[in-house]
Amino acid sequence: MIFIRRASLCCLFLVLTVSGSISAKGQVSINWDAVQKEAVELFVQYLKIDTTNPPGNEIRAANFFAELCKREGIEHKIFEPFPGRGTLWARLKGDGSQRPVVLLNHTDVVPHSQEFWTVPAFSGQIKDGFIYGRGAQDMKSVGLAQFMVMVALKRAKVPLKRDIIFLATADEEAGGLLGAGWFAKEHPELLGKAEFLFNEGGNNSVDNSGKVLAIGVGPSEKTPAWLRLTATGDPGHGSIPRPNSSVNRLLRALNKLLDYSPPIQLTPVVEQSFKALAPLMPPDLAAKYSNLREAIKDPTFARMLEADAGAKALTRNTISVTMLAGSNKVNVIPPIATAEIDTRLVPGEKLERWIAELRGVIKDDSIKIEPVLAFEANASPTDSALVKAVADVVQRRFPGAIISYPVLAGFTDCHYFRELGIHSYGFSPFVAPNRELGGGFHGNDERIGKKAFEDGVKFFYEVVERLAK
Ligand SMILES: [Zn+2]
Repeated sequence: MIFIRRASLCCLFLVLTVSGSISAKGQVSINWDAVQKEAVELFVQYLKIDTTNPPGNEIRAANFFAELCKREGIEHKIFEPFPGRGTLWARLKGDGSQRPVVLLNHTDVVPHSQEFWTVPAFSGQIKDGFIYGRGAQDMKSVGLAQFMVMVALKRAKVPLKRDIIFLATADEEAGGLLGAGWFAKEHPELLGKAEFLFNEGGNNSVDNSGKVLAIGVGPSEKTPAWLRLTATGDPGHGSIPRPNSSVNRLLRALNKLLDYSPPIQLTPVVEQSFKALAPLMPPDLAAKYSNLREAIKDPTFARMLEADAGAKALTRNTISVTMLAGSNKVNVIPPIATAEIDTRLVPGEKLERWIAELRGVIKDDSIKIEPVLAFEANASPTDSALVKAVADVVQRRFPGAIISYPVLAGFTDCHYFRELGIHSYGFSPFVAPNRELGGGFHGNDERIGKKAFEDGVKFFYEVVERLAK
């Protein structure tokens, strides 16, 4: 047995202990009790850092991880391309025989309303088996787990084929342009032609008895096509109505969109995500899920499937009217009226084709339609080495569980990296029945089960080690 004790340089951090034995290759075995205890302590410190976006102040989180990297002797860089908006990059070198894997996490959190919380939102308080704090689910828990994976690999001197790149970015909750988007554009060289990336967006399924049914590896997400509609018309006094005023034109166009149901558009990645769930379904439904393209032709099944709003969103492009602007005075007919609509496209859809479809519905060429935010909807393969690594560990850790391929109706920062050709996946290492997992994602009393968190650190380690060793 060897015993290593590193004294902490800074009072912020803890004294670390790693005990274990040395293998023939010089690798040190990991004392998981110590690592998990340390992970909880660091997680609590991390939750105490207020990175509410807006304004963000993610430089605080970047500094937190940078201090830890210094202590561990891990190569790292801090970027602050916009005041206060910090991003941290760190790397463990592999032998270069395989391409890197990126552990991506965002450090910003959404605002909270303290009056609805039972504990201070940045206290990191541990109560009744749960760790509380804004970001406990989304996604400081994952970020800290990823960090501990890197630390554990480093300390244990695990020989790596791939570089492990830890990337903690700003601004995801506002679209990521100042964080992941900025980094992917300005510093792709620091990603070393990475092959794989882990990010938020996984989805596991555990029944009430604790039996693990499915571990999700998310290969794709729908993509936003946020559109601005601008209508113009003769302005004038409200006392003399003008049938073709800008506001009237806009309302007619929006009404047509509200009445419109975009057709079902099945894409291979969505079909596959249903197919993967078939083994968990009763026999009649299993057959339908296994061949969604055929099954959906049956109107009864289609109705049943689409009664679930989440399932419905995956099989079609969707439209939500969300922002309207007309006159700022009640008796003035304005020359311009605008609406912004949140449309979401199925993976593989093309923006130009979609806009043309909407023009066909609106049938008013005087209305301008332009994108406010849109990017390509793409997908990563489900037969990759990353998916196999997860499957191998799951088979050992949770025998009988299936691998599912959830497609998100929302979106994460993954698209910035898929656009660079990196196979990117949503993955959560936290596996527990809902009552033990916690909750409050973007809501009140955000929390995660302490045991689910501790177990998740080890599960994530096993997956990354399997992929990179
Ligand atoms: Zn998130």
